[in-house]
Amino acid sequence: MPVYICPNCRERSIDTDGVEGFSMHAPQCRSCGFGFLFQLLEDYYPAPSTGFVVCDQDARVLAVGRGVFELTGYRETDLIGRDVADALALSDTAPLQLVREWGVRRLGEQLELRTRAGLTKPVLVDLFPAYDDDGGVLVALSSR
Ligand SMILES: [Zn+2]
Repeated sequence: MPVYICPNCRERSIDTDGVEGFSMHAPQCRSCGFGFLFQLLEDYYPAPSTGFVVCDQDARVLAVGRGVFELTGYRETDLIGRDVADALALSDTAPLQLVREWGVRRLGEQLELRTRAGLTKPVLVDLFPAYDDDGGVLVALSSR
């Protein structure tokens, strides 16, 4: 059963009524009104501090959710259109490449990023492939 997660407010919704998945348009978040939801094949419970970054098939940032600023110091406008690994100076890009190439999720990657202030910060990174035609990757960042 598909699970949808709002990249902004982290609200999960399960597509029990079949309404959300069959819309011509990406479903909106019923909780915060964010423009689209990200579909996951299996359920996922983000931490309260987790921040999501939505990327396109080239790993460029499309949208940034709540919590990312607190973790990284970057606002959405700083990140939009940039390569996510470059923008955050992720310490290892292999997990991201795996997700993009193989369409599998990677959980619990212990990486480091560089905050806007130039500090190195250890983070736990979960990565999810998009299942729609456009591809893309959802990056979940949590402090560790
Ligand atoms: Zn929401």
